[in-house]
Amino acid sequence: MVNHLCVIGVGLIGGSLSMALKKAACVKRVTGLGRSVENLQKAQKLGIIDQYETDYSKVIPHADLIFISVPIGAMPEVFRKIEPYLSSDTIITDGASVKQEVIEIAQRELGLRINQFVPGHPIAGTEKSGAEAAFDSLYQNRRVILTPLEENSEIDINKVREVWKQAGAIVDEMGARHHDLVLAGTSHLPHVLAFSLVDCLNNVDDVDEIFKYAAGGFRDFTRIASSDPVMWRDICVNNSEAILAMMHHYQKNLDSLKKAIEDSDNDKILELFSEAKKARDGFCNS
Ligand code: NAP
Repeated sequence: MVNHLCVIGVGLIGGSLSMALKKAACVKRVTGLGRSVENLQKAQKLGIIDQYETDYSKVIPHADLIFISVPIGAMPEVFRKIEPYLSSDTIITDGASVKQEVIEIAQRELGLRINQFVPGHPIAGTEKSGAEAAFDSLYQNRRVILTPLEENSEIDINKVREVWKQAGAIVDEMGARHHDLVLAGTSHLPHVLAFSLVDCLNNVDDVDEIFKYAAGGFRDFTRIASSDPVMWRDICVNNSEAILAMMHHYQKNLDSLKKAIEDSDNDKILELFSEAKKARDGFCNS
């Protein structure tokens, strides 16, 4: 049971964690801390949080667990504002999509209190943002990856693990750099491709015609291009090395497909499509 949860950034990710824990009756009180009062008022009205504040000094000293769920670009400021008011038994965790860079930010800003930060990332989300996008079943049977630090105590790691389990998630652990490489392939690259495809089509002469006749496949492929641009810019710049490596790998594959089409190499095209279908069907049915 968490006595007092403080959610910094009550949007899709933070709001959904609060709702899931409230539904599971394992949090007594949730305070939303953030930037825009309008969003916090909305969150309170929707019952996502019990109260809100914009002054860190009034909330941080009394929180048992702090969950940071703001875009990565806002994290240095958030850690900086937390540090002066942090009690020694408060645990901080987060939901940011990139781990190594966020850990380095936390090390810089928290200093000796770094042991209190247990980094995490829920592998769940939608293309919607803000408090209104939050829902209590977002984490049900979804994976959460913790990337603990050697400074963390087993007790704190277990507490964070337990919180996610109460929210319905399956919790894994891995190193931060490995996390960033894996997610660059499965999440970051697809978002880059979706944004790039829509931007590319948006700049051709017959754009109206193209979007008019876009069918289900186009919608499926590009749904994630409706995600928050600020959040995804921050992910790209904070995991650039791994994302660029994946883009390079992808570009080689695309070049090879392009050549097969130029050469009317039916066998090569069929082989690539068949392998891809087999891999996706296997992954989706597992
Ligand atoms: P979101 O719905 O836009 O929520 C972000 C919240 O942060 C908003 O309530 C925003 O409030 C607040 N915020 C922004 N800048 C702030 C600042 N400087 N100080 C305090 N609050 C600030 O975004 P989200 O989808 O929940 O994403 C949050 C984090 O989760 C990101 O780090 C992202 O990488 C990670 N994540 C996202 C997904 C996904 O699919 N969306 C999945 C896994 C992890 P105002 O703008 O109203 O002030």
